Amino acid sequence: MAHTDVIVLGAGIVGTAVALHLRKRGVAVALVDRGAAGEGTSYGNAGIIEGNTIFPAAFPSSWKSLLRIALKRAPEANYQLTFLPQIAPWLLAFRAASRPEQLVETARAMRPLFARAVAEHEALAAEAGADKYLRRTGWLKLYRSDASFAAQARELELAKSFGIANVPLDRDGALALEPSLSPSFRHAVDWTGAVSVTNPLALTQAYAARFAALGGLSFDGDARSLHRAEPHWRVETAAGPLDASDVVIALGPWAPDMLRPLGIKLPLAVKRGYHRHFRPKGNAALSRPVLDADNGYCLAPMEQGIRITTGVEFAPRDAPPTPVQLDRLMPAARDLFPLGEPVEAQSWLGARPCFADSRPVLGRAPGQRGLWLAYGHAHWGLTLGAATGRLMAELMTGSEPFCDPKPYGAERFTK
Ligand SMILES: Cc1cc2nc3c(=O)[nH]c(=O)nc-3n(C[C@H](O)[C@H](O)[C@H](O)COP(=O)(O)OP(=O)(O)OC[C@H]3O[C@@H](n4cnc5c(N)ncnc54)[C@H](O)[C@@H]3O)c2cc1C
Repeated sequence: MAHTDVIVLGAGIVGTAVALHLRKRGVAVALVDRGAAGEGTSYGNAGIIEGNTIFPAAFPSSWKSLLRIALKRAPEANYQLTFLPQIAPWLLAFRAASRPEQLVETARAMRPLFARAVAEHEALAAEAGADKYLRRTGWLKLYRSDASFAAQARELELAKSFGIANVPLDRDGALALEPSLSPSFRHAVDWTGAVSVTNPLALTQAYAARFAALGGLSFDGDARSLHRAEPHWRVETAAGPLDASDVVIALGPWAPDMLRPLGIKLPLAVKRGYHRHFRPKGNAALSRPVLDADNGYCLAPMEQGIRITTGVEFAPRDAPPTPVQLDRLMPAARDLFPLGEPVEAQSWLGARPCFADSRPVLGRAPGQRGLWLAYGHAHWGLTLGAATGRLMAELMTGSEPFCDPKPYGAERFTK
């Protein structure tokens, strides 16, 4: 019977960073996944380490945008009609969390994690030899109308009070930064402190390689085999059963599959999202990710090509892909940037693991000795992966945590 101090279930960016941080503190760690590191949701994101994030994505505040979504004309959001009754309670909670005063509360609660996001990745990337994947050119948000730009006023005000660097730009200022864009927008904000990743898969793989170099062990195994084998937790792996006194659930959108049988029911939903790579035409290029805020998609320059990532789709996690949002946004994307041929025959589909209050769950699982939770990072799992790794390792080893973990506790749902 193999034994270790801690089993981390899930080798996405979150689980890998947790495992690496624990190992750096001398803990014996086994990282278990049914696939290879970084090939889940962490594979396909827009690669933005958004330490600048203030307000989370919110429920539409105008009837006009809601109607556009309802009529299935919005590129930023889509839904499968038959799924609405099932997701309705979560959507109501999301709407409640999107009230202006709640958004400010969320911004304050999440600030300590976001504030460390870039620095914690820089530290891990430096020791993992992955600095070459980090691009320190910020993140450009574009606004096609005066109204959509004006709607950011509150966020820019709060950014000032938090000391988050940004440069509002007119069209010419933005085109000077990204000359391949067409002038089809009116305003821009350059979030200069954001860092982007040229290959999110390679970043997670580099952290996993660093974990292995420090003596961490990785196993193939199905997290759903987790059970109590007193006095330990046990997981079945391809190399046989593995025991540990502590287990971290870092399974992203799959976490409920194994928490439900243990009686832990936390209200996680998924916001599905798609990406597809395109070759730029001629010498066209981007040196930073660009958000078309009015259409809710990103153009992210990656090693594989220009990665277009979509907004959200409400559908069952495992339902077949329905990438209609890509079709809806392509005219706007082609108008904004000279996109050539697609790189792949099909789009990629991922599922952002989301709680309605846009905070992850980090810390002890309620009512289960030695069980820890680190999932639900929504739109910011890449961003917060490294900071989460540090916070979890500090909590689990009894060190002083770099921030108060209370806002992220599972107890907020069980009280
Ligand atoms: C289109 C899109 C764009 C995004 N853009 C950004 C961005 O720019 N910036 C940002 O910060 N975030 C972004 N995100 C969000 C981010 O990608 C996620 O929050 C993050 O990847 C979640 O990481 P994770 O480690 O929690 O989950 P995952 O990466 O999904 O890892 C979970 C792991 O668990 C494993 N697993 C699942 N079930 C089992 C089982 N039964 N047994 C064993 N292993 C199992 C999986 O194989 C997987 O490796 C985006 C997401 C999408 C979909």
